[in-house]
Amino acid sequence: MADVKFSKVTKKFNENLILNGVDAEIRDHEFVVIVGPSGCGKTTLLRMLAGLEEITDGEIHIDNVLVNNMHPSKRQIAMVFQDYALYPHMTVEENMSFALRLRKAPKAEIKERVTEAANILQLTTLLKRMPKQLSGGQRQRVAIGRAIVRKPKVFLFDEPLSNLDAKLREEMRVEIAKLYQRLNATIIYVTHDQVEAMTLAGRIMVMNHGIIQQVGTPIEVYRKPVNLFVAGFIGSPTMNFIRGKLKVEGDKLYLKNDDISLYIPSFLLSKTAEHDGREVVVGVRPDDVLVGGAAREKCSEKLDGMLEVSELLGHRENLYIKVGDTRVLATVEAFFNQSPGSKVAVCFNYENMHVFDKATTQRING
Ligand code: ATP
Repeated sequence: MADVKFSKVTKKFNENLILNGVDAEIRDHEFVVIVGPSGCGKTTLLRMLAGLEEITDGEIHIDNVLVNNMHPSKRQIAMVFQDYALYPHMTVEENMSFALRLRKAPKAEIKERVTEAANILQLTTLLKRMPKQLSGGQRQRVAIGRAIVRKPKVFLFDEPLSNLDAKLREEMRVEIAKLYQRLNATIIYVTHDQVEAMTLAGRIMVMNHGIIQQVGTPIEVYRKPVNLFVAGFIGSPTMNFIRGKLKVEGDKLYLKNDDISLYIPSFLLSKTAEHDGREVVVGVRPDDVLVGGAAREKCSEKLDGMLEVSELLGHRENLYIKVGDTRVLATVEAFFNQSPGSKVAVCFNYENMHVFDKATTQRING
């Protein structure tokens, strides 16, 4: 296995700047998940690493070897795609052994590697089948098997589960986690799925407009998003954002707008006076919004809200609340048992509030 280093990697298609000086290091045996909105350059980055796309500027190293001009076949990288890309006229076994046969590997070695991969992926009984005789999940296993037999230095997964239904996706997600433990491989994995990112990643890399916004463990990225983009992108349902101006009253700091006067404790922003007048955005995850009895119990200062809609999710409930004209989503334990139109007390879990500068969009609390 291997580490991977991107240094100031830039990609232009015609004059369009797609990747803008990407700097990143993926360590040996690491599982890095890349997330970001559609079109931000995730696939392009993987394709450049695999050698399928030219690099406009910058350097890519695999195991300390510069690979900018190295042929894809020499990079020892295997890529697994969303659409499986199996050869329809070949059996599972032939699909899995294809790259080794092309390389003219000894027959015994091919047999051994295919058998081993088939065992790992529970494909042993399906080796003689054609792709069209397989379910979506089985096809994706074959695509992964085809990557495993090559014993690559790095596995690249480009949204490998997005063609599967929710249940199968869950199963395959666990399979990939097990596979990672077993192979101890370096994996770079692109997904749109928050749960896949949070559960599979050793570190998450959040991208937007061809720029890496933050790299960190799932918990770091979730608990301490470095800017408004990451805060809004990571987490489902999305974080609530409350805009306003900071104002000092006595020795206390508040966020004020037309609807809300929100106490900002000094452990979030110290040196209160320095922030007086600053335009900010306060972020609060729906799980950190306290409503009704919980708000009355935990917070000294509460906001007056009105319940608009509630959605029962099973053991949790989404409450859409209006505080003046500001909408706040709270996710609370079922059953909240209040009708739409009811007045409710609202407050936020201060420890988990996030404060961002409105102009720079950067996080300003610790
Ligand atoms: P998605 O999540 O939708 O797969 P992505 O983040 O993987 O998106 P890319 O596929 O890397 O995004 O594409 C990044 C940008 O580059 C897009 O605007 C896309 O239209 C553009 N692009 C990709 N390939 C080419 C190409 N061969 N020629 C011109 N533009 C391209």
